[in-house]
Amino acid sequence: MLTIKGQSISAEITIGTIRLYQHIKNIIGDAVSAAPEQELARYRAAYSKCMAQLQHLYDKTLAQLSAEEADIFEMHRMLLSDSQFHQAVETSIIQDHKTAEYAVYSVGQKLWERFLAMEDPYLQARGADIQDVMNRLLFALSGKDESSLDRIAEPFILMTEDLSPSETVQMNSDKLLGFITHQGSPYSHTAILAKTMGVPALMHIDIDENWDGHLAIIDGGAQTLYIDPDDALVQQYQAKILLDKKKREELLALKNMPAITNDGRRIKLYANINTPADIVSAIENGAEGIGLFRSEFLYLNTHEYPDEELQYNIYRSAMEHMPGRHMVIRTLDLGADKKSPYLALEPEENPALGYRAIRICLNQPELFKVQLRALLRASAHGRLHIMFPMITSLQEVQRIKKILETCRMELHENGIPYGDPVVGIMIETPAAAITADELASEVDFFSIGTNDLAQYTFAMDRNNARLYSFYDPHHPALIRLIGMTAKAAHDHNIPVCICGESGADLTLTKTFLSMGIDALSVAPKSLLPLKKAIREISLTVS
Ligand code: PEP
Ligand code: MG
Repeated sequence: MLTIKGQSISAEITIGTIRLYQHIKNIIGDAVSAAPEQELARYRAAYSKCMAQLQHLYDKTLAQLSAEEADIFEMHRMLLSDSQFHQAVETSIIQDHKTAEYAVYSVGQKLWERFLAMEDPYLQARGADIQDVMNRLLFALSGKDESSLDRIAEPFILMTEDLSPSETVQMNSDKLLGFITHQGSPYSHTAILAKTMGVPALMHIDIDENWDGHLAIIDGGAQTLYIDPDDALVQQYQAKILLDKKKREELLALKNMPAITNDGRRIKLYANINTPADIVSAIENGAEGIGLFRSEFLYLNTHEYPDEELQYNIYRSAMEHMPGRHMVIRTLDLGADKKSPYLALEPEENPALGYRAIRICLNQPELFKVQLRALLRASAHGRLHIMFPMITSLQEVQRIKKILETCRMELHENGIPYGDPVVGIMIETPAAAITADELASEVDFFSIGTNDLAQYTFAMDRNNARLYSFYDPHHPALIRLIGMTAKAAHDHNIPVCICGESGADLTLTKTFLSMGIDALSVAPKSLLPLKKAIREISLTVS
């Protein structure tokens, strides 16, 4: 039995078999081969396998969905059989003695970059298809199937070097018991996704491919991973899991009770969700509404930006699932670690400080307006709150409001019904926290994103596991910025919520409530423990 320490995102425990998830960059391996003929044969076999896979996917999608949706696979077949691509890969293998994997990767990357540089946005978007086709070939060469994890019948613990948010949202959460990764940190979006799925994750583990297929225990609370645990330990943890389950059932008694401190302060408790499907667990855990719907996760993996009608239907349906309840939808917060194929963002030197969130939206108003029109239309069906991420200045808020006004006028001119949403911003940059008093006069509410606020206050990448020990959610600088924000909100009579991960940190709850924070928005599974803690707090007694 092996006992290994990691960094945990929650106190959950799980027991299950480990499955290795192969990330593309691990598949590439050596660049040079001593046996070009063999490499050529491997490439040709992988090529035929991919052509057959794509034909199968095309036929299946045509039969089960529509010709329109099946077309993507036909297009991928055309890209794969492109003679220039094919020749370039074969030349790289035969003349330059590259391995099949390296040849596919390097030729694919060059082609992708050429597409990215094109002016026509349609052609630019095809760059993402090149990547898909290249990945398919690489997985075929590795002998592993890209989607093989989806076909595993038994629940499993996923082990991988690194996992991006877009890979995480693709995981089938029914069978997923937990994550073990080397990269990533408990404040990364991948960790946040795991939390919303309600599964444990241990990060910063020196993973070993030989653990594939072995039994493991993740003890989130003890930040420990056990590989090949003995029977006695398995029984001990099975008993702990049962006890945790019982505790959760007891907490359910609080589901319909208000979050009210021992001395009578009422706090609103909302859930953070990433997809409409998460609303189910938000309701199960007694959420009073949704305090943060991260809309960018909806279409993180698509090649096309979702059109207005599609977005409108999703937002409206989310509101209909929680009629009359609070619903905050955050506009696209893409960039940095959240990369979507349809945006084809260029690699950046400092992505967290780069072209992301509201900066993309203000720079590409046509894209922004599609979402704003959809949100305005959805707000005809209830009191929708729209929230803008990564704000750093008053000017940004004023520009946003102008664009919103234009969208209103466009809808009005076209006779399309729309509502009057409540407009708020995230306070997640030090610039916004420091100027919160000015910003408060322009908006209806604040929501503090402690994940980014901490990252930018400490100048520490929230995704970097090596910085975790330096990362202090109790740091006075962060606490003071939160306090300043709360004061500015109340001076202007607007409510203030915390929707970053610190909102669920029970060691900070009393501090936040003492500052006058009105609401907390957390992962669904964190709601009831938080409500229990709030009900035990007395703000008048120190
Ligand atoms: C935050 O930054 O705290 C936040 C809630 O937004 P996200 O985690 O999606 O960046
Ligand atoms: Mg953020």
